[in-house]
Amino acid sequence: MSKGRILTGDRPTGALHLGNYVGTLANRVKLQDEYEVFLLVADYHALTRHAEKDHVIATRAFTRDLVMDYLAVGIDPNKVTIYRQSDVPSVCELHLLFSMLATVPRLERVPTLKEVMDAEHIEQPSYGLLGYPVLQAADILHVRANLVPVGKDQASHLELTREIARRFNFLYGDVFPEPDTLIGQVPTLVGTDGQGKMSKSLGNAIMLSDDSATVKHKVRDMYTDPKRVRADIPGTVEGNPVFDYHDAFNPNRVEVEELKTRYRAGKVGDVEVKNKLTAALENFLAPIRERRARYTANPKIVDEILAAGAAKVRPISEETVRMARDAMGLK
Ligand code: ATP
Ligand code: MG
Repeated sequence: MSKGRILTGDRPTGALHLGNYVGTLANRVKLQDEYEVFLLVADYHALTRHAEKDHVIATRAFTRDLVMDYLAVGIDPNKVTIYRQSDVPSVCELHLLFSMLATVPRLERVPTLKEVMDAEHIEQPSYGLLGYPVLQAADILHVRANLVPVGKDQASHLELTREIARRFNFLYGDVFPEPDTLIGQVPTLVGTDGQGKMSKSLGNAIMLSDDSATVKHKVRDMYTDPKRVRADIPGTVEGNPVFDYHDAFNPNRVEVEELKTRYRAGKVGDVEVKNKLTAALENFLAPIRERRARYTANPKIVDEILAAGAAKVRPISEETVRMARDAMGLK
């Protein structure tokens, strides 16, 4: 018996990385047997930052990569519904109805808005960018999901989703669940530069699709304790991205603890710590690469998955919109 519905997803703007994995993908894989899981390829959301035609076209190629990443990490397309947002446009009607329930100052206070504007040098947000979390609320609630696995950076959006559900139910009667947020085992994985969160758009990410040589190279160049100019200088483990990654991806706890002890005592070189991390990441990525190779041998599978996904979600979405309209008296 299913515990309920999950909806989560990603914008098709590039390959997925280790941060996406520990923040949300791992939970999606883990819960696919217990919940009815919907994975959204959020191509409308990709327009909120870049609406130019070449970007729109690029989302098509990125969509394939994204679906391949899902399959590679172990999402089973026979259990999980994967669909593209623009294939189910009824979500836009719900977005419109919800947009009456969120004030402009409330949306201006969503912390990711300022972060995105700063990172991408956007001086004035478009109406669409401001409304990003409202569309996200519509994504989640048009399938009436009750659980949303995301990284910590998304928690403020989920708060708004709950507010919108509550406000709608208060004004018009009980239609929507107030979904819970499920943050991954590592709420925010730091980037290889040690400066902030690992992010597709910041060039500080190890991709799930990186080959061995690239992984080795990225680990070798990783930021680590800058005061250790020699191996015999005691180092700091806390907040050191190399050890954060060991904690997240090296299942050999004894090895990790021993490396930490030696690092703190100035008894191990960075090269050894990093080589052991590379080995751990290679082990972690091996089954992902193997599944990816199996699926890329059948490239038609992505189109088939997306077509089946859209066909499954459309009636659910249309039913929800009907319920919302009826509750509001828009009959
Ligand atoms: P962008 O830089 O384009 O925003 P991103 O790398 O932040 O990309 P998103 O597509 O915004 O990735 O996020 C997809 C999912 O992965 C979200 O649930 C988000 O919370 C999660 N996530 C992203 N980066 C991290 C990270 N460094 N640690 C943990 N979770 C993350
Ligand atoms: Mg992001």
